[in-house]
Amino acid sequence: MPRFRAILDTVPAYKAGKTAVSADGRSYKLSSNESPYGPLPSVVEAVSKAASEMHLYPDPAATELTNTIAEKYGVPPEHVAPGAGSVTLLQQLLETVGEPGAEVVYAWRSFEAYPLMADLSGVTSVRVPLLGETHHLEAMADAITPRTRMVFVCNPNNPTGTVVHAAELEAFLNRVPEDVLVVLDEAYREYVRDADVTDGLTVYRERPNVAVLRTFSKAYGLAGLRVGYLIADEPVASAVRKTTVPFAVNHLAQVAAIASLAAEDELLERVDAVVKERGRVREALISQGWTVPVTEANFVWLRLGERTMDFAGSCAVQGLAVRPFAGEGARITIGTPEANDAFLAAAEAFRNA
Ligand SMILES: *Cc1c(COP(=O)(O)O)cnc(C)c1O
Repeated sequence: MPRFRAILDTVPAYKAGKTAVSADGRSYKLSSNESPYGPLPSVVEAVSKAASEMHLYPDPAATELTNTIAEKYGVPPEHVAPGAGSVTLLQQLLETVGEPGAEVVYAWRSFEAYPLMADLSGVTSVRVPLLGETHHLEAMADAITPRTRMVFVCNPNNPTGTVVHAAELEAFLNRVPEDVLVVLDEAYREYVRDADVTDGLTVYRERPNVAVLRTFSKAYGLAGLRVGYLIADEPVASAVRKTTVPFAVNHLAQVAAIASLAAEDELLERVDAVVKERGRVREALISQGWTVPVTEANFVWLRLGERTMDFAGSCAVQGLAVRPFAGEGARITIGTPEANDAFLAAAEAFRNA
């Protein structure tokens, strides 16, 4: 048998998320924070046209997409690094800073990909517990050592939906040494309605050690095509571009992302509808007696502790796939009003059981 890296023994084998189907055939996938809407007709049309070009390699630099993003935000194209989803960009960031002995600091619980990617890249994870479901930025700054090369700040945080506010973020960034890269993971930025949450794209303009990650997977509804981007100062963006696997962002993904930016108003209307539903779902849960942290993302978080897996099980019986974290809690994506109603009914039944 070939000899594998020892770290692989600690990496769990990939398990596909189960779909849940109720006895009467209903099935709602509220486990992956996807958009509940199908793709826009204009995006499908652009992708269909591009399909006739699939015998050709894509533009390796995703030039048109890069320029479109740069123009949208008023940043130089040199500051943009497109990637095959922002998870891939996380992996690339770890490749750019991950020397043996390097540490990466992040909150926990946060995005599941952080420990996985960190382990695979060989850097040491330093996890700082959440404080009241929110990043404890003071403790995160305290956790920085001379070995720290990168800090992830997931804002809003997956899976709790909580945000860090402008003043805390500013105070935190003032404490981070200049040679430590702070990655603001803003996968859910479009869902934020709290005016006191800083836009990472404002912060990065003042701080060469801040990088912003965005994705087309959530608000833009392109999870199946794998495309995201990083925006940071030239040295960071250029280091990340060096680690890109050749032709990482495929042609259909590039075309779909450009078409989605052209149809942004329509997509942001959908985001507004999800935000409305988010408010309705959270209020209904609270009136059922649940404690639900304020969420600025397209999901809600229930801290269920030891009851987490039971909760996920009783949701599954009702045809609802949710994302449980055993012993901690469950994350439930905001779906269509019908799916949300089904979830609220399941949550109420669980409380009354
Ligand atoms: C969903 C998500 C992403 C996006 O991943 P893609 O690879 O772009 O699909 C990134 N960060 C967080 C925190 C997420 O929840």
